Amino acid sequence: MSSIHDLSVFELTKALKTKTLGAVEVAEHFLERIEQEKLGSFLSHNRETTIKSANASQLKLNSNNAGLLEGVPVGHKDVFVTKDFPSTAGSKMLEGYMSSFDATVVARLTNAGCVTVGKLNCDEFAMGSSNENSAYGPVLNPWDHTKVPGGSSGGSAAAVSARLVPAATGTDTGGSIRQPASFCGITGIKPTYGRISRYGMIAYASSLDQAGPMTKDAQDCALLLSAMCSGDADRDSTSLDLPPKDYTTNLNDSLKGVKIGLPVEFFGEGLDLGVRKAIELAIEVFKDLGAQFVSVSLPKTQLSIPVYYIIAPAEASSNLSRFDGVRYGYRAKEYTDLIDMYRKSRSQGLGEEVKKRIMTGAYVLSHGYYDAYYLKAQKIRRLIAEDFSAAFKQCDLILGPVAPSVAWGLNEKIADPISSYLADIFTLPASLAGLPAMSVPCGMSEEVKPLPIGLQLIGNYLQESKLLNIAHMFQTLTHWHTLSPVQAKTSS
Ligand code: GLN
Repeated sequence: MSSIHDLSVFELTKALKTKTLGAVEVAEHFLERIEQEKLGSFLSHNRETTIKSANASQLKLNSNNAGLLEGVPVGHKDVFVTKDFPSTAGSKMLEGYMSSFDATVVARLTNAGCVTVGKLNCDEFAMGSSNENSAYGPVLNPWDHTKVPGGSSGGSAAAVSARLVPAATGTDTGGSIRQPASFCGITGIKPTYGRISRYGMIAYASSLDQAGPMTKDAQDCALLLSAMCSGDADRDSTSLDLPPKDYTTNLNDSLKGVKIGLPVEFFGEGLDLGVRKAIELAIEVFKDLGAQFVSVSLPKTQLSIPVYYIIAPAEASSNLSRFDGVRYGYRAKEYTDLIDMYRKSRSQGLGEEVKKRIMTGAYVLSHGYYDAYYLKAQKIRRLIAEDFSAAFKQCDLILGPVAPSVAWGLNEKIADPISSYLADIFTLPASLAGLPAMSVPCGMSEEVKPLPIGLQLIGNYLQESKLLNIAHMFQTLTHWHTLSPVQAKTSS
């Protein structure tokens, strides 16, 4: 049998249910790997708490009372609040913060039997594309330690890719599940906005934030998503009032006659040649599976960057006003009066990128600029969603790259943040429209140290099943999702 850490969630649940493996044995195995990790992907773990919940899972497995994911270790991005582990959102502002409750995502996965092994590093308040904005240091890409893992869910992606945990949660506001999944060679899905409750998810931009699973393959994403999704209207008014759904039932549906749209704007200038080649080869695989391709247009693609970088900071400036040194987290040691306390607590507790976005957000919302920036951005946001509606008249789903390139070097874009904003171009449109989208490994770059390449699938509202079906069928014919940097190192 392969090592415990090479097993998929699907295989692990089987091994646990047939008692081939024990829940404590599995938890110990991953804890040992986490304790030896050198990527910076975990911000906290707690052996005692984890073994205790693994023991509880084993009791349920013994009494045939097991949940769907009983005994499966999972790591949570540090923006989900947890009562047993600190929740920092990658910020000094929340250093050591202990929540009195679990986020709905955490509670639902725990109810399904998941064993939490710890909290994962991320860009501060999920703002970033490289994980270099974390107050607790960067995360290294497990394929090449000189590269970024992507962001903001960089810790989640790196940990799954390095086999430190079989599954992790992430959040995606403008690409933060899809882009790190692509950079680290794993599979991730951002469902339709509102499909998963945001309760207990530390807010960045509330009209865009959406949680999702990050795993080795589409089947595992389907398993986790089935446990995570729920209506939660009492606690998150934007969560869709829909019952949970089993996303594993349609995974093997035939792709005969499925129409896939290729947006011309996603294949233009600026797309790395290696990425383009990998996507083109993937298109051939989809054709072998019976899918048909049509060309579609999303003409406002370019505008998604300025629109997102107005709307997201605007919402962030409001959401983050709660971090004032009074109600939560960090308070400056010395200050003269109340205003000075606010000022010093916020300037010392928040990082550069976060402060930049709060200032941008406050500016675009201010009197005199609101109409020119914020209101205009909202109008274009609507047009971006309309582009998708028109495209979905011609096709069942859309395929393109996740990012214009593979993972870039650590520190490479720090001096020029605009270049990292521009790299979000293919993930932002689906976020602004609230559509489900996923990242699927589809190749490796041709560098000396090859880096993973991901393709993006975007579906119409609530078409998660279709996305997972298509991704799963692709993975039955390809091996990219089975590659791991752990094997890569031992075999070289
Ligand atoms: N890279 C984008 C940003 O910096 C997206 C982040 C996210 O999805 N959380 O805002």
